[in-house]
Formats: sequence, structure tokens, C-alpha cells
Amino acid sequence: MSQETVFAKILNGTIPVEFIAETETLVAFYDQSPQAKVHILVIPKTCAYQNVTELAAADPQLLAEMVGLAKELANTHADGDYRLIFNNGVNAGQTVMHVHAHVLAGDLAERGMVGN
Ligand code: AMP
Repeated sequence: MSQETVFAKILNGTIPVEFIAETETLVAFYDQSPQAKVHILVIPKTCAYQNVTELAAADPQLLAEMVGLAKELANTHADGDYRLIFNNGVNAGQTVMHVHAHVLAGDLAERGMVGN
């Protein structure tokens, strides 16, 4: 059996984290190392998918739900605009092998993350 990820431990309560949103299939919580004023992680409750490529192939509906929840969070925590990042693979910076969306919002222009 593969090693339990930190997100599996958050989901089973071994690591206590406050959920800022929860649906039947997803939870969202603040990233512990924020890269923007609003930096929220949206993760599926299932541990079946390591990355968004696997998720998109197997369950596009669940991926669409992740995007929908990201937009809702951007509406309630910022002005509705958001950047959605999925790191895929160690060489792309993925450290937790449980698919997750980074929702960044709030001060992207001030941080030089918008424009050229
Ligand atoms: P990635 O590098 O795309 O795999 O993103 C994993 C993210 O999970 C990083 O941005 C971490 O800061 C975040 N993270 C890891 N452990 C926790 C935790 N216990 N609570 C909140 N965020 C976490």
C-alpha cells in the first residue's frame, strides 16, 4: 500500500485543519504557506487520484466541481478573480500526491503575478 499523504491525514482527522468549505465530494482549507493574500487548497475527499491528469481522465465531473468551488471561494474571499494552479509531478513542484487545486486571489497584481 502506498504511503498516506498529508492530505489523507487531514481528511481522516489525524492532522487537524479547519475546513473553510466542504461539499459532498470536496474540502477546502488555507494553505499553510500562503503565496497570495488568499491561498486556498481545494481537494477531493477521495484519495484515488494523485494529480489532475488522472482526475480529468477518470472523473471530469469531480474536476468541474473543484473549479466551481474555487470560483465560489474567490467570490467570497476576494473579488471573484482567481488563479487556479495544479502542480503535476515532482519536477513541476508537486509535493503532495493527492490531487489539489491552489486557489490564489486577492493581491495578485500587487505581487507582480499579473501582467507582463
Ligand atoms: P504542491 O506543492 O502543489 O504539492 O502543494 C502542496 C501544498 O500543501 C503546499 O503549498 C503546502 O504549503 C500545503 N500544505 C502541506 N501541508 C499542509 C497542511 N498541513 N495544511 C495546509 N497546507 C498544507
